[in-house]
Formats: sequence, structure tokens, C-alpha cells
Amino acid sequence: MNIDKHNNLTEHICLALAHAGNVGIINAESVKAELAKTPGKFNITRLLTLISPAAEPFIEQMATQARDLTIQRFGRTVQLYAPLYVSNFCSNSCLYCGYNKTHDYPRTRLSIEQALADADVIASEGFRHILLVSGEDPKHITVDYLCDLARKLRDKFSSISVEIYPMTTPRKNKHPGTVDEGLHY
Ligand code: SF4
Repeated sequence: MNIDKHNNLTEHICLALAHAGNVGIINAESVKAELAKTPGKFNITRLLTLISPAAEPFIEQMATQARDLTIQRFGRTVQLYAPLYVSNFCSNSCLYCGYNKTHDYPRTRLSIEQALADADVIASEGFRHILLVSGEDPKHITVDYLCDLARKLRDKFSSISVEIYPMTTPRKNKHPGTVDEGLHY
């Protein structure tokens, strides 16, 4: 999105909410007031203030706050992980994505055995964090498949994450086994 469109959009959102009485007038003083608060706590007023056109001259200050907060929370560490693509079938057609269902090329789903073999290669390269990736392919890359795979991978990796299709979170008890199997959403 170019800056002018971005500014117009945020300006419209701010004006709409200001008219609705949810946010006061946003100007340089309100941006300074937000930036003077302890960073790390967010609400809609803070968000709208800091993305408003009035905040543009304060971008460097915001970047400094963001960097300080990142260092405070995560330190100066970098975590390396390797993705393991278990399926490149997908029922969606997002324009930017190679898995887009309209692209015509041979596709693959890994069996558990194939996935384990690939994971062994990843582990042998020294990776201790693995990300299981799939297109939107829930009929084949099922929760049972992921739990079974995670159970078999957990001795090899410190963390197993998944990047798949939208699903109900374990906290809603739809997929109670996934966290027990070591999967992180
Ligand atoms: S893999 Fe994800 S981003 Fe790619 S087409 Fe499917 S849903 Fe869209």
C-alpha cells in the first residue's frame, strides 16, 4: 500500500472513530502523549494514534521504542527453524502464493514415513526447531496426522510448530490432543 493511500485510509478510520466519539482529535500532542506512556500495552486508541498521519514525524521514535521492547522481551537471540512441507495441495487461490490451486504442477503429500525421513535430514543439519507447513488440505493433513507426526518427532526437536489451515484452538477443546503431542500454534 503506498503512503498516500495508507494515510488516507488511517485518516478516514481516525475521523470515523472520532466522529463516533471513540477517539478524540489526533494531533502531534496526542501522539507525544502516547509515546510517553510505557510501551508494550496496546489498545485501539493507541493503535489509531500511532498509525495516524499525525504520527508520521515520530516514526524514528516509534522504531526506537519497538527495538527496545524487542530486546527487552526476546534479548539478542535468533532462533533458527526449518520448515517441513507436508503438503502443497491447497483449496485456496491466494494470488501471491505458489500453492494457489490454479497453478498447474505436480503436487505432493508426504506420508508419515516420508515426513520422518525428511525430518531426519533436517535434524542432521543441526536444526532443533521444526515448522510443519501445509496448504489448506484438511482432509489429508488431519489433526490425527499432525499429532502422529509430532509424537514421532518430539525426541528429535526442541519445538514443533505448525503453519497450516484455520482451525479451532485447543483451548476450545476441539483438538485437545495437539498440545499434549508437543504441537505449538
Ligand atoms: S497455501 Fe495458504 S497462502 Fe497459499 S494459496 Fe493456500 S491458503 Fe493461500
